[in-house]
Amino acid sequence: MLSTKPGLGGGVPLPPEGGRGKEGEGGGTVKIVRRPELTFWEKLYLPQILCGLKITFGHFFRNLFLHIAHRFGRLRHLRAGVTIQYPEELRPLMSRYRSRHRLTVREDDTPRCVGCMLCETVCPAKCITIVPGEHPDPNVEKYPIRFDIDLGVCVYCGYCVEVCPEDAIRMDTGILDLAAYSREEMQLDIHELMDPELRKPISECGLDFPHRCEVTGGGMKGSWDAVEGS
Ligand code: SF4
Ligand code: SF4
Repeated sequence: MLSTKPGLGGGVPLPPEGGRGKEGEGGGTVKIVRRPELTFWEKLYLPQILCGLKITFGHFFRNLFLHIAHRFGRLRHLRAGVTIQYPEELRPLMSRYRSRHRLTVREDDTPRCVGCMLCETVCPAKCITIVPGEHPDPNVEKYPIRFDIDLGVCVYCGYCVEVCPEDAIRMDTGILDLAAYSREEMQLDIHELMDPELRKPISECGLDFPHRCEVTGGGMKGSWDAVEGS
């Protein structure tokens, strides 16, 4: 026997429990699943709380017993649970793990990036912004005057690393704590990318090549003459 549900447009006919509904507008079959009714004990929540406490205390006393036994050289074949004391202690990462980006540098501390724009082009999240400039060395195509990555948008696909012909960008810093108080702080600029230890706000710019530097109030920082020592 069909029943009706008043909340659905003045009474959509409902099939018996678990049954199939009527034909939909597009020709497909609509299956209406009823929300299961909670029993009296489920509404109380106490049995579920006690069940959770039983599991928690079970793990606690098992680990307590095993750690004490290990201290006395017993039951070493049974592994006890270990708590990692984050953030003082970090879990070892797999070598292929993709963490915060960094730009690699040449021997003269200028970026290896040649401003080819491949990473910006391939990035599916469109979160890389590069402004290339002419490099004085004719063997180097270009260099980035500006290189920004918006980590608030990045999906950590690693395409930028894969596509780079110069091994100029990597995701191997092992930095995972990327929390910030604002969206702006999630936007890494060339300073933070070349020195992954840096965090905004950056008070001093230590880069010695021409780049767009907001720290010193905008404009260009450094010169190629200074880099080449001439
Ligand atoms: S990891 Fe992917 S989404 Fe993030 S910057 Fe690189 S290409 Fe873009
Ligand atoms: S793909 Fe590599 S060399 Fe090209 S712009 Fe990106 S980081 Fe620079």
